[in-house]
Amino acid sequence: MPSAVILLSGGLDSATAGAIARQQGFELHALSVDYGQRHRFELEACRRVAKSLAVKRHNIAKIDLGMLASSALTGPTAVPKGRSAEAMSAGIPVTYVPARNTIFLSLALALAEESGAADLFIGVNAVDYSGYPDCRPEYIAAFEQMANLATKAGVEGTLRFKIHTPLVNWTKAQIIRRGVELGVDYSLTHSCYDPDEAGRACGRCDSCLLRLKGFAEAGLTDPLVYPA
Ligand SMILES: [Zn+2]
Repeated sequence: MPSAVILLSGGLDSATAGAIARQQGFELHALSVDYGQRHRFELEACRRVAKSLAVKRHNIAKIDLGMLASSALTGPTAVPKGRSAEAMSAGIPVTYVPARNTIFLSLALALAEESGAADLFIGVNAVDYSGYPDCRPEYIAAFEQMANLATKAGVEGTLRFKIHTPLVNWTKAQIIRRGVELGVDYSLTHSCYDPDEAGRACGRCDSCLLRLKGFAEAGLTDPLVYPA
């Protein structure tokens, strides 16, 4: 069985990408990044999701991105709440972390080369939340080309790296419907940028609002508990 490295964030998208990779016949090697998130709940969700996907290995790379103080996810800026769909799609939000997917994919590429895996999976999506430049197909294609130029395995031709983005053109509702078909348990996932002290989702940040909209459009109920 070929193995694939999958970036797991603990969120809905990467859990679904993981289920798709499994369904395609890959043995999974999960990579999560402890980058100094504002809260620990994301990493707890990563562990739960990795277990539910029966991954063969799960590495958690520790890297301090606290120097990137401009982002609301790694610095003191408040996470925006209650934004309309129009406001969310206008420009790049303050929850953008500088070059985050390049940092994460570089770690995943290193791990893939180390373990002899040619396939990498990342749950990026360019439809519902197109504000992030490092979620676009042209970015992924450029990274894939770079991966094959930047590595010993790529240059010597022992591995031909491929970056799989099975969700890139799907709406959040399509992602959720496919995940449910594949048996993804979304109660294990965590999407909120700003949970309370018990880890409960706020229901009002961009990530919560997109998730709730996705469940509503899929005709399903989000299993997470939100404040009344
Ligand atoms: Zn939230």
